[in-house]
This record gives sequence, structure tokens and C-alpha cells, in this order.
Amino acid sequence: MHMLNHPDLGKAMTLSRSGLRDNHRRSLARFLLWVTGLSLMVFATLQLFSGYPWVSAVEFVFGGLAFVGVARINHTPHFERWVYGYLFTLFSFFIVIMLLPDASMAAFVWVLMMPVLAYLLLGRREGLLLSVPFMLLGCAVYVAFLSGIEGLSTADFVIDFLNMVLCSSLMQVFMYMYEARREEAELRLIEVAQTDALTGLANRGSFQFTLTRTIAESERSKAAFALVMMDIDHFKMINDTHGHEAGDYVLQEIGKCLQERLRVTDFVGRLGGEEFGLILRDVQPEAAYELIEELRRRIASRKLRLGDSDMAVTASFGMAHWPEDGRQADNLFSVADQHLYRVKRAGRNQVASSFNAQASQAKDAAAGGED
Ligand code: GH3
Ligand code: MG
Ligand code: MG
Repeated sequence: MHMLNHPDLGKAMTLSRSGLRDNHRRSLARFLLWVTGLSLMVFATLQLFSGYPWVSAVEFVFGGLAFVGVARINHTPHFERWVYGYLFTLFSFFIVIMLLPDASMAAFVWVLMMPVLAYLLLGRREGLLLSVPFMLLGCAVYVAFLSGIEGLSTADFVIDFLNMVLCSSLMQVFMYMYEARREEAELRLIEVAQTDALTGLANRGSFQFTLTRTIAESERSKAAFALVMMDIDHFKMINDTHGHEAGDYVLQEIGKCLQERLRVTDFVGRLGGEEFGLILRDVQPEAAYELIEELRRRIASRKLRLGDSDMAVTASFGMAHWPEDGRQADNLFSVADQHLYRVKRAGRNQVASSFNAQASQAKDAAAGGED
């Protein structure tokens, strides 16, 4: 799970994760508000006929509020507030109906509903914090209720009490465990969806996401950055000569090399095949060029063990600078790609950007990567 340690990917995950969760929580909250609104209307009507006009009026008001929530919940920026308002009111309402003078035993089943709703809408931590106090309160009211039953033997009291306490505790534990497993699975799924399986680097989608975010950040901070596209030279030959597995090994080694050399603020991903992308943040063109030149030399001089022989591979680099070469991801990709194409035609194992129109002639190209 080393990818989780990457600061960028970590952030990207948290973002898309809360996005995912937000959507499904909103639709769940909307459904619950519907059900609550409808139930309250039905209960309000029944209470009216049972001789509780004030309870009925309160239920009508809250039923109406629930329908306002149905209309607003999908778009409100104050989703958390709605959820807390809803759960707090609903749980208080459960407690109130348990406190009614002629409440029946059945009213107490709602205590068991508390953890389910709280965990689904608030997640593990906040779900626990909200549901436990209300459940304890519910249990206390239940004890008072049992004490008020005339002629209930001590044994029956204990049995009824334990039924409630055991069942609510188990509900808490199950919901907590379920939520923990669900979060874990969701995290794993997002990690897999953003990672390139062979190299463990960010995959194309995740790289593009980070590029878009880097652009947005740079628009705010005005900090320049560079997009680099890197393509391994004559990679097909490696596959053809040494086999596909050797090719995979080379990709993994190059991936490691890229990760080793990058600063914490930089980002690297595999764009596909033998093509990699790099984002160098907070650098001016000259410094970015130096950095990539150094990387190019390092890759060329790295000895890769294939069978009983050592071999070296080289790579070509095309660079685009924000904002000089463009302010949008598409423009930057296209400029970097053009430079990369130019380098390939000029003999490979070089770095090119708009700031060095003549691609640097690599001195060790012919030597095949000697130090
Ligand atoms: P150039 O110097 O012009 O880039 O030549 P090249 O041979 O590197 O470029 P080309 O695009 O012709 O070949 C890329 C090869 O990469 C073709 C494909 O079979 C191979 N390849 C793509 N993905 C993988 C992979 O995951 N593993 C392995 N082993 N090979 C791959
Ligand atoms: Mg290629
Ligand atoms: Mg290639």
C-alpha cells in the first residue's frame, strides 16, 4: 500500500473518496427524509384521532420540514448541518415518543434504529459519537418504563432489560465493524483505480487529475511548473530481444528510478506503455531543464540486470512549461508531446522544451549510457 504514502495521491484519494461518499450519503439522506416525511404525516393523522392534537401538530410541522429537506438535500452546501439537524431531531423524537404516558413497549425498537442511521449518514467516528449518548438515554428511559410496569417480577425486569442492552450493544458493534470494513474496501478500491499495477506509480487518470489540480493551484499562487513526458527509447527492441517479462522488469526499474529522483513536491505517473509523465512544481524553465537532464543521465547510466548480463536503456523527454506553453492541460500535453516527437527524430536520449529549441545533444547517447 505504499502508494498511499504519496502526498498527492493521498489527497486525490481523500477528495474522490469524500466525493463518492458525499453522493451516496446525499441520496440516502433524501430517501430517509422522504420516508420520514411520509411516516410523520401518517402518524400525525393517527395522533389527531387518538386525542393528541399537540403531538399531531408537531409531527405535521416536522413532516413538512422533511419534505423541504427532500427538495434541498441534493444541492445544499450545508449537507452536514442538515444531517445533524435531521438525526438530532429524529433521535429526540424517538425519546419523546418513549416518554409519552401510555407509550407501548414497541416504541423502544427505535433505539435500535439509531446506530444504523447515524453510521450510514455520518460514518464511523461521528456515527459513534452521536448514537451512543442517544442510545444510553433510550435505555435509561426504558429502565424507567420497566420500573413503572406494575407486577413485573425482578426476573422479568432483568430479562427485558438485558434484551434491550444486549441487542443495542450488538447493533453498535456490528454497525461499527461494518462501517470499518466498508471504509477499508472503498479505500482499497480507490487505490487500485488510481494505481498502475505494474509499476505502482499513479496511472494515467490519476496523473491527469493531479495535473488539473496543479494548474488550478498555479492559477492561484502563480507558481510556475513543468509537465514532462518521457518515452523509453527502442523499447520494442528490449521486448523483442529479451522477452516481454524483461520489458516489464525494465518498466519497473525505470519507475523506481523516477520515484527515487523526484522531490517530494513532484509527481510521477505511467501514462501508458513505456511512456511516463512528470510534474515538476515551483520550477523555472532553466532549473526544470537541469533537473530532467540529470534524470536523463541517471537513467542512461543505470545498469539493469537481465539474466547474467547488464544492460542500459535511454529515454527521451519533452517538456512544457506553465504558463508560457499554455495554461490548460491539453495545451501542455500537446506541447510536451511535440517536443518529445522532435527528440525522437533528432536521435533520442535527449531533453527538449521551448526553451532549448535545439535539443541537448546527449554526449553519452552513443556510448549507450556509460557513466
Ligand atoms: P521509440 O524509441 O521510438 O519510442 O521506439 P519504441 O520501440 O520504444 O516505441 P514503440 O511505441 O514502437 O514501442 C513501444 C512498445 O512497448 C510496444 C509494446 O509492445 C511495448 N509495451 C507497451 N506496454 C508494455 C508493457 O506493459 N510491458 C511490456 N513488456 N511492453 C510493453
Ligand atoms: Mg511510446
Ligand atoms: Mg518508446
